[in-house]
Amino acid sequence: MRQVLLHEGSRQLDYEIRDIVKKAEALQALGQKIYWENIGDPILKHAVVPAWIKEILTTLVNENSTYGYCHSKGELETRKYVAGKNNEKGGAQITADDVLFFNGLGDAIGKLYQFLNPYSRVIGPSPAYSTHSALEAAHSNKEPLTYNLDPENNWYPDLADLRLKVKYNPNIVGILIINPDNPTGMVYPVEILEEIVEIAREFNLFLVSDEIYTNIIYNGVETKSLAEVLGDVPGIAMKGISKDTPWPGSRCGWMEFYNRKVDEQFDQYCSTLENAKMVEVCSTTLPQKALPIIQEHPKFKEYLRERRKEIEERSEIISQYLHEIPYITFNKTNGAFYNTIVFKDGSINDKQFLKIEDEQIQALAEDWVEKIGEPDKRFVYYLLAAKGVCVVPLSSFQSELRGFRIT
Ligand code: PLP
Repeated sequence: MRQVLLHEGSRQLDYEIRDIVKKAEALQALGQKIYWENIGDPILKHAVVPAWIKEILTTLVNENSTYGYCHSKGELETRKYVAGKNNEKGGAQITADDVLFFNGLGDAIGKLYQFLNPYSRVIGPSPAYSTHSALEAAHSNKEPLTYNLDPENNWYPDLADLRLKVKYNPNIVGILIINPDNPTGMVYPVEILEEIVEIAREFNLFLVSDEIYTNIIYNGVETKSLAEVLGDVPGIAMKGISKDTPWPGSRCGWMEFYNRKVDEQFDQYCSTLENAKMVEVCSTTLPQKALPIIQEHPKFKEYLRERRKEIEERSEIISQYLHEIPYITFNKTNGAFYNTIVFKDGSINDKQFLKIEDEQIQALAEDWVEKIGEPDKRFVYYLLAAKGVCVVPLSSFQSELRGFRIT
């Protein structure tokens, strides 16, 4: 066979969130019970899709309208609907033409970075949801560019760090925010969003806001969507139905383009994303048809309220336990459904708290950690082997901090 050469950026695709699953499966094969706390799939976490949503889907399946391709940008009626929802808030106004549907936000995130020149970089938060940082870094074939979220300050972004990095790296053309954030559960306060908009305006950058958890904010905290704060700065919001409805299997998410005509190059970038979708034909039709019907159903608002309440209660319980542990830094979450635990310097080593009884499992765990330097990865592998609890090390989220994320 001729030599198969990979894109050099593919080395950035080491993906611990999935790798740990292979280790958990090896343990499962040895009879170990696994507690899947590693992935943000609400269905795996026993969220029950209510009967009225199933009825909507059944009706659609029985119609003929969902089997064909839809418009390459997405179903027109659904694009009109989500544009209208955005416009109700009174911020940046869009039409159905500014909405582009993808096969889930994972697909959208890949495209977002794929068509930028490798020297046009997007800086994102650290710790970072790895799909953004890994794909941005893979396409540019460089290390990810990140600004720090500060665990000693409620995980709020270090704006001085962001400003300095933007100022001294002329390759940075965009800033990513994830609001609410994965993995920290932090919700960006409005003043911080406004300051980020100011940085973007000062250095002529565009903004990207991943708002997939926008319907999962609790504890009475307030934030704003990108459209509400960005003024005349060009921006892209990324939204989806995987986490709130929750329907991750739908593979349905979308981008909203704001102020695209303000800058010719940004407009071209948006058009390129649209072309990419056209070349691919389109995204999944059924969930797009279902989306407005689900969200306009009389029970939807109450259903979301209940889901939020449940997640808030869970976060409260977890926080009560974690606040009692002296070796870690932990901030109570206000959004999404992850908890991120940071080890205080040098206070936790892999075997300190964990005893593996089974000799075969012990040997497997020793084999896994033998070549691993990061103490949090070692801890996480030992935790998996000793207790079957599957979590993701913080070092896998483009972070210098050590700890782990639990779902
Ligand atoms: N964005 C963030 C911040 C996420 O946490 C996730 C999934 O965990 C996604 C996007 C991917 O969403 P989708 O299921 O629409 O691909």
